[in-house]
Amino acid sequence: MRVFSLENVINEFEVLSKDAGRQQTETLRWILEQNGEAEYLQSLGLAGRTDPESFKACVLDTSPVLTGKPITSISLSSGTTQGKPKFVPFNDELLQSTMQIYCTSFAFRNREYPIGNGKALQFIYSSKRVTTKGGLTARTATSNVFQSEQFKHTMKDIQSQCCSPDEVIFGPDFQQSLYCHLLCGLIFSDEVQTISSTFAHSIVHAFGTFEHVWEELCADIREGVLSSRITVPSIRAAVSKLLRPNPSLADSIHNVCVRLSNWYGVIPELWPNAKYVYGIMTGSMEPYLKKLRHYAGSLPLMSADYGSSEGWIGANVNPSLPPELATFAVLPNIGYFEFIPLEKSEVQDLEKSASTIHYIEAEPIGLTEVEVGKEPVSIQVGRHREGSRLPSTPEIQFVCRRSLVLSINIDKNTEKDLQLAVEAAALLAEEKVEVVDFTSHADTSTEPGHYVIYWELSCDATEEVLRACCNCLDLSFVDAGYVGSRKVGAIGPLELRVVRRGTFQTILHHYLGLGAAVSQFKTPRFVGLSNSTVLQILCRNVTGCTFSTAYGP
Ligand code: AMP
Repeated sequence: MRVFSLENVINEFEVLSKDAGRQQTETLRWILEQNGEAEYLQSLGLAGRTDPESFKACVLDTSPVLTGKPITSISLSSGTTQGKPKFVPFNDELLQSTMQIYCTSFAFRNREYPIGNGKALQFIYSSKRVTTKGGLTARTATSNVFQSEQFKHTMKDIQSQCCSPDEVIFGPDFQQSLYCHLLCGLIFSDEVQTISSTFAHSIVHAFGTFEHVWEELCADIREGVLSSRITVPSIRAAVSKLLRPNPSLADSIHNVCVRLSNWYGVIPELWPNAKYVYGIMTGSMEPYLKKLRHYAGSLPLMSADYGSSEGWIGANVNPSLPPELATFAVLPNIGYFEFIPLEKSEVQDLEKSASTIHYIEAEPIGLTEVEVGKEPVSIQVGRHREGSRLPSTPEIQFVCRRSLVLSINIDKNTEKDLQLAVEAAALLAEEKVEVVDFTSHADTSTEPGHYVIYWELSCDATEEVLRACCNCLDLSFVDAGYVGSRKVGAIGPLELRVVRRGTFQTILHHYLGLGAAVSQFKTPRFVGLSNSTVLQILCRNVTGCTFSTAYGP
């Protein structure tokens, strides 16, 4: 009999986090001991030493032979940064730390927003499974987690069992899985306590689909017969087992849907016992918050933890903060962390090369050497929050993925800079026109090069509005390198290209075709020349373009 105690989980976390320094030393010792026999470590001359100093002195190698314990499978990263997935080792330790982070953040969440016994409407999807040349199974990290027994046990412990059967999560057709997640969620609507996904984009996407298929879902529930659109036999069989004719449920869903104004608050209306909406809402998910808040109405949004295919980093232990302010407490026993301090260069003149315009990288520092309130420190790029609750383990904020930059010459704009520019410009769009999704490209095929911003809009906007938005975008990139280059004509006028509705769906499907999973999908906010297929999809779908006149015609 498993006994799960929220109090124990929180106590354990407090003990770990207060003693982060020692935990890190212990964790490093443990990792080096476990893997001491690995070819990679043997070759570095550590000779059995397991202290941080020896580690720093010896480990500079890039050899691929890595671990002492068996790698159970391979995780494929989302591949939205470089255009193709990375192959990352996955093992039982990683699975354990995933469960630890799920339980920790749940314990903190549940203290403030307790949920009852019930189910979770989870929009989660597995990726395709491939076999590597060495015979290991490779799929996305989330798929490796979803298929494990521990995942099921933990979901039970934290009262978050998925409404849908496994056949839906692991189905080969994403659209059919999505439809069935919605259907199962509605079948169990009284029991649903939370609505979640790995990344918030999947929830927004699911309800965008719901707007189109709700009548079909009602019909299935009324008749107790699954729509003919579900053709995968395993999904059909599993979901049909749950479906009984239920005209009164169908009526009540129908009544809610016709009564809602533009789908505002659809989630609490259809799932009256839901306590919150949960998923990663930071970083590249922030642009979807507006739409998510619209669907969630009165329900709180809770941002999930921070991790990557390589390993977890931190848990959100302040769940009541709005997603924009979410912080992550680094769990000092799940990995050995080093941070690269990013220091502002003193001279930011135009002669500097692009990489030094914003920051200079200092030597890596340990977890407990990170200082509160200093300039960004980076794993990718994290920022410290002043007034952290916990004295020893740092709480970090996700700022942006550092490798994503829009740059023509000496200018440099990050994913965050782009997001802020798009937000500012979108305000100028009329009430009814929403920016559904966006990305960017640095077009150097023209002389001089210029920024191209792609927008998918919810409906048509007038020429005049687009011109205003385009100028606003151009002026919103305030990086000194950009402004200077624009003024002297070293970068040409920014171009706003509007793409056909559904273009970003096509991009999503392109990534799914490469073996990505919706659960880990992040729209690439910058598309380079090397990502030619995505660039072609964008170019094929352009319906109109406008050039900025912000720095003169
Ligand atoms: P993957 O590339 O599939 O391994 O996904 C890992 C990436 O997802 C990280 O490098 C981050 O860019 C992003 N990510 C993960 N957790 C968060 C979070 N809480 N907030 C923002 N971005 C995140």
